[in-house]
Amino acid sequence: MDELHPQTRAAHPPVIRPVGSRPLTTPIYQGHLFSFEDAETMAAAFEGPPRAVDGEDGGHGAFFYSRLGNPTVRSFEEAVNTLEGGAGALATGSGMGAVNAVLMGLLRTGDHVIAQSSLYGGTYVLLHDLAERWGVAVTHVSGDDPEEVRAAVRPTTRLLYLETITNPTTRVVDLPVLAATAREAGVLTVVDNTFATPVLCRPLEHGADIVLHSATKYLGGHSDVLAGVVVTADPAVHDRIWRHAVELGASVDAMTAWLAVRGMATLPLRVARQSENALALARRLAEHPAVERVHYPGLADHPDHDTARRLLDGGFGGVLSVDLVGGRKAGELFVEGLRLIPLAPSLGGVKSVVLHPAGTSHRGLSDEALIAAGIGEGTVRLALGIEHVDDLWADLERALAVVGGGG
Ligand SMILES: *Cc1c(COP(=O)(O)O)cnc(C)c1O
Repeated sequence: MDELHPQTRAAHPPVIRPVGSRPLTTPIYQGHLFSFEDAETMAAAFEGPPRAVDGEDGGHGAFFYSRLGNPTVRSFEEAVNTLEGGAGALATGSGMGAVNAVLMGLLRTGDHVIAQSSLYGGTYVLLHDLAERWGVAVTHVSGDDPEEVRAAVRPTTRLLYLETITNPTTRVVDLPVLAATAREAGVLTVVDNTFATPVLCRPLEHGADIVLHSATKYLGGHSDVLAGVVVTADPAVHDRIWRHAVELGASVDAMTAWLAVRGMATLPLRVARQSENALALARRLAEHPAVERVHYPGLADHPDHDTARRLLDGGFGGVLSVDLVGGRKAGELFVEGLRLIPLAPSLGGVKSVVLHPAGTSHRGLSDEALIAAGIGEGTVRLALGIEHVDDLWADLERALAVVGGGG
């Protein structure tokens, strides 16, 4: 090295690999290129998803270019994979990247998808775009009835697409029954498990084939990461999705994956606390005169309470919604009357947030579509954080007093 010119030495600083010790936490592999000791290993790397440690996770080749795989990203993927109990995981640059990788990786023109009606808005729009522009047929079902799914199956049906807990009315589908129905028909079940997280529900244990997340929400957990992840039960399905994600360029960068891994260390603690806060506040809100109805699967009067008790393990999630007496005006006054809880979209961070769907996220829906989704003019969604429950309640009580019904 010493006899090289300064320009060459500057461009080739030594890359340090620890010998005799290893990092205790995930290192950030920000560089997107990896070099090889021999041509044969390099050729093998082009065969398929790279492996973390020789042979350990069933991949084919070494890391060589970060769009196809990166050790920091792999650390995040494995963190989710072990919690969900999958055969392999694939991280993407957003939750929608994960939804796209699955749908476009597994479907072709002429195929048919059965999907729950109350889907995340971006997923709903994507499915209808695939229908219009790519000739993929879509049938929506309520998610309440396996017979409805059975009746919707066609010879071309490839996927049943569900969400564990729906937004904002917190319906919980009977996953084992629906996944078994799909399996009998040779259809793969895809579950968006963003709201439940693997802490509360592991869909693969209930017969799902593919689980995906917007890691932007609970997995990242601090409102500073935009990422997604797909976990599959079958390594062959993982490879098909991986191939499409690589073509799509859906990969997440190392720094983001590192933030997500770091956030995930406290996922079980956060979700437990968020679920406790949500249950305590759901109970208090249900007693309040300004509140017509509380939608929370932890309450005995929720239509899916029994399913939720069977499916969700250790809590009912951090999201609830409330129908306020007084409709749209009450919804607007309420969200503006809060001082601690900010008015913001998204959810899953350590801070509680509130949203008035009829006026914002679901503004585009017709009156009939709103009713079909169970969203009223006065419905507000609360996504609870990890604050002290009494401070949250004081804020909610103050805003309810502004609305009028209360103390
Ligand atoms: C937010 C969200 C998505 C989309 O995730 P992004 O990270 O915003 O792309 C998908 N599904 C559900 C249930 C979500 O809440």
